[in-house]
Amino acid sequence: MDSAKKYEFRNLRNSSDKILICPNCFEMLFRDDIEHFSSCPYCNARIEVNDELEDFLLKPFVDNWISNQNRAGLDITPPEN
Ligand SMILES: [Zn+2]
Repeated sequence: MDSAKKYEFRNLRNSSDKILICPNCFEMLFRDDIEHFSSCPYCNARIEVNDELEDFLLKPFVDNWISNQNRAGLDITPPEN
């Protein structure tokens, strides 16, 4: 039996970001909520970090890393001053 929980995500309006729906009380949880409490701040259900959730939590870092990589590629040309 597969014990891995499936989480539900919703897209945020006006953003490419997502929010997690608590599997227990269905409140909308922001990334900060999960990082700071590692459980639902509304119903106290433990939020188990699986691959899916890890991707969600790491997304800002990955996005940041990608944009840094892109910027690094532009550093070939000297900065204008
Ligand atoms: Zn909850």
